[in-house]
Amino acid sequence: MTLDVTVLTLFPEMFPGALGHSILGTALDKKLWTLNTVDIRTFAEDKHKTVDDTCFGGGPGMVLRPDIVDKALTAVMERGKARLLHLTPRGRVFNQGMAQELAASPLPLVFMCGRYEGIDQRVLEAWDAEDVSLGDFVLTGGEVATMTMLEAIVRLIPGVLGDETSLEEESFAQGLLEYPQYTRPREWHGREVPEILLSGHHKNIAAWRQKEAEAITQERRPDLWDRYSNKQPNPLT
Ligand code: SAM
Repeated sequence: MTLDVTVLTLFPEMFPGALGHSILGTALDKKLWTLNTVDIRTFAEDKHKTVDDTCFGGGPGMVLRPDIVDKALTAVMERGKARLLHLTPRGRVFNQGMAQELAASPLPLVFMCGRYEGIDQRVLEAWDAEDVSLGDFVLTGGEVATMTMLEAIVRLIPGVLGDETSLEEESFAQGLLEYPQYTRPREWHGREVPEILLSGHHKNIAAWRQKEAEAITQERRPDLWDRYSNKQPNPLT
């Protein structure tokens, strides 16, 4: 299966950027996912290629015009049904659970990146766009948020990672943060690798890792720990 991704942006030259490197870049070459960009500015009609205007009601900043964004969306959506995601700090906050859901999407994904004060609300409503946020902070545009989400999504597509068992143990998979990792040398600047990891005793190693994962989750993420220890369903998978 290929995950088909389109990004509507005023800065198409930002893509694939980081997504063209390493494992995700290889996956792109292998067509495990495809990436198209659509430059919103090409749908502007005046000679200055204007895409924005001042806010009704006053206030600083500019807003992306609904008529221009609508034309860009029409061009993309006429290719067929797709899941339309609008990047905004006002959206549902992205997490590992959503990454999994989107990685398995049977529909193509369309990411709509805002700039300035954002996109006129009417065109978002008209297209029934799904608001999604990277987190509780404000970026200057949706492009880096889109890239970050795609980093999390694409690695979950079957065949992208060499060893998919690594997905089962990493942070959030079981509702916990991951245990600490170590490699060679065994001793570094007087710091030893925990003895248990050298024992070759798989059951004890698994028990140690579980204990470490629980301890760090309890300490750093009381919200996750509460759900995990009360055996509530993991919302992140
Ligand atoms: N006026 C908006 C507000 O206060 O909610 C912020 C606009 S922001 C300067 C410009 C664009 O960056 C947004 O339209 C959105 O596409 C993107 N953006 C900013 N913060 C984001 C976040 N946390 N998650 C996703 N996209 C974000």
